[in-house]
Amino acid sequence: MQWETVIGLEIHTQLATQSKIFSGSSTRFGAAPNTQACAVDLGLPGVLPVLNREAVRLAVRFGKAIDAELAERSVFARKNYFYPDLPKGYQISQYEFPIVGEGRVEIVLDDGTVHEIGVTRAHLEEDAGKSLHEDYQGSTGIDLNRAGTPLLEIVSEPDMRSAAQAVAYAKKVHQIVRWIGISDGNMQEGSFRVDANVSVRPAGQTTFGTRAEIKNVNSFRFLERAIQFEVERQIDLITAGGKVVQETRLYDPDRDETRTMRVKEEANDYRYFPDPDLLPVQLDAAFIAAAIADLPELPDAMRERFQADYGLADYDANLLTAGRELAAFFEAVAQGSGAPKLAANWIGGELTAALNKSGLEIGASPVTADQLAGLIRRIQDGTISGKIAKQVFEALWNDGGDADQVIAEQGLKQITDSGAIESLIDSIIAANQDQVAQYRAGKEKVFGFFVGQVMKQSQGKANPQQVNDLLKQKLLA
Ligand code: ADP
Ligand code: MG
Repeated sequence: MQWETVIGLEIHTQLATQSKIFSGSSTRFGAAPNTQACAVDLGLPGVLPVLNREAVRLAVRFGKAIDAELAERSVFARKNYFYPDLPKGYQISQYEFPIVGEGRVEIVLDDGTVHEIGVTRAHLEEDAGKSLHEDYQGSTGIDLNRAGTPLLEIVSEPDMRSAAQAVAYAKKVHQIVRWIGISDGNMQEGSFRVDANVSVRPAGQTTFGTRAEIKNVNSFRFLERAIQFEVERQIDLITAGGKVVQETRLYDPDRDETRTMRVKEEANDYRYFPDPDLLPVQLDAAFIAAAIADLPELPDAMRERFQADYGLADYDANLLTAGRELAAFFEAVAQGSGAPKLAANWIGGELTAALNKSGLEIGASPVTADQLAGLIRRIQDGTISGKIAKQVFEALWNDGGDADQVIAEQGLKQITDSGAIESLIDSIIAANQDQVAQYRAGKEKVFGFFVGQVMKQSQGKANPQQVNDLLKQKLLA
């Protein structure tokens, strides 16, 4: 039987505010346990929450970035449940009236196909504290520093049909939140957490199968593996006559499997009700206008512009707009060199490889956009070959300077004087009569030997095209 996978993601992204969503406590990561939680975060009697404007502003920016409807009026609700890291006994969230309504996110897969994924809603809520199981033998520590940290929960439609699509979508949302500066997206620190709802159904069936929700996926690679594992588990289960139960499962990266965490609560178990301590949020036009006024050009728009202005392929344009700094770097090199495609190749190839190898971000690249543009200009005008350019790049990477300087100092200028190349070829032909005879007798592979000799003796500087042309002439003469 053919099966179809159905996936919807719930993404919690921590908003980059200085203080918490309903109190003045700091949101800084990594402080000593329980040093950044105040009476409001703990829900002690007699205190009242006050909404952080900045969290609202950031949510509005996100809504705009995914082309969503913004709710003029949204309402905070209490989601009631008991857990040791939630001393209030409820989490302040939004339920019936979220601040961001329906929107959409475009994804580009590796094969270049573009898909639109629907966003159902995005709502503001507070985070809970953290239970620390590792450091305390036989007991659990509770750190409430994270309690009250602002989150935006972004809920997708069940629009994804493969693990690859789900990963592409999660990466795209991650790209957007960082791009518009509403979250640092740090996955190790838990600033970007993905829960995957997964179900399967026989191909052609219109109703959805029962879903399981997988939590604890803290990298894109784990997201892909967790979904793949879960899809297989469900298919095996159904094929063997069993039934998928709606539950929350935990992904265990060490064993590469998902396992039951708890049977899923229904919404009514949470007894949601509007929080009587908080007024509804009324967005006015001036607030929205100010929040979105300085939104940068968004990745999709930039991707399309790179294709139109610089003639980049889908794949390159997508890659080069993965982050704002990278995109700006590319644009500076493309304009500075006048050779956008070469710029794309160099950034996607040599530069990315060198950055990866030394674990550097583009912002810390030892070779600046100016330097790379200067190098590409010299490839473009024939001063150096692509091969020598790699040598120049290495020098720029290690010692700085500019391409012209390196070329001059190391004598790397390409030999394009056909007289000089000719006399070099003549001497090589004279010294290798056996090979000349072989070539003339039809052994074409020997041609490569001659090219190699010329390149070797010119230290790689002879213009390759001229070498080819002249060698052919002379050997066939
Ligand atoms: P809950 O309130 O239990 O979290 P929601 O209806 O809000 O449930 O859905 C949560 C997520 O699950 C959404 O991202 C949605 O797209 C996804 N989802 C819902 N039904 C399915 C299904 N049958 N298969 C896969 N994902 C689903
Ligand atoms: Mg949910």
